[in-house]
Amino acid sequence: MAIQDRIALVTGAGQGIGRAIALKLAESGGDVVVVDINMEKANETVKAVESLGRRGLALKHDISDTRSAEEMIEESVGKMGGLHILVNNAGIVRDTLLLRMQEDDWDAVLNVNLKGTFNCTRAAVKYMSKQRYGRIVNIASIVGEMGNPGQANYAASKAGVIGFTKTVAREFAARNITCNAVAPGFIETSMTEGLSDKVRKELSSHIPMKRLGSPEDVAESVLFLASDTSSYITGQVLSVNGGMYM
Ligand code: NAD
Repeated sequence: MAIQDRIALVTGAGQGIGRAIALKLAESGGDVVVVDINMEKANETVKAVESLGRRGLALKHDISDTRSAEEMIEESVGKMGGLHILVNNAGIVRDTLLLRMQEDDWDAVLNVNLKGTFNCTRAAVKYMSKQRYGRIVNIASIVGEMGNPGQANYAASKAGVIGFTKTVAREFAARNITCNAVAPGFIETSMTEGLSDKVRKELSSHIPMKRLGSPEDVAESVLFLASDTSSYITGQVLSVNGGMYM
């Protein structure tokens, strides 16, 4: 098994891509801490993890709250007995064109997507450094690589995640901690389910593979970067986008 008996924490794993990542890691031999602000959904994911024969733990934390993120790592190490893999997946959108974008739209997205990634990573590397092992995978986005009208806040947050990833990779490589990003294209989740058929068709026409991706497409790449198969890969952005951006 790719990550046999490793302990992983996935933020925003109550649904969508995070849930698919949690299940893929469990299927591959890992125990999984499922963090979400929605405890009902987190509990559902934990049930699915347990039905795969692995330990699961649901924790309610808001990753944008620095103290809460620190407690999340303490609690998860305390209850699970360690932490090997951190997947910074939780993210939100507040889309609108720049001239209509309110300060609040900017702050909310940056606080969860970028500051949340900083909060969880800083708390986790304190622990990972001591054990001289860690795998960190940050979920960025194609939008952070190429921009997208209506998503100035989101694009900036995800471009920030990419810069942050490369810096963490450089700072902690000597401690045997790798840090990489996965940049999904357009994926079938609640984030994209509101798209009209017209927009969906238009989008697909720009994707060489002519379809949106699935959460499982993303989860497979996360598993690779979370495993020891990728031990000489750090500071990279792995694009999972059907060829939409090369
Ligand atoms: P989603 O909205 O389906 O799920 C996000 C989960 O994160 C939810 O369960 C939510 O409750 C949780 N969450 C939100 N804010 C949180 C917070 N402050 N603290 C803890 N948990 C919080 O989203 P998704 O489509 O599965 O996206 C997951 C990640 O993938 C995000 O970072 C997103 O930006 C990124 N992404 C998604 C797509 C896509 O097309 N869906 C494309 C590129 C990147």
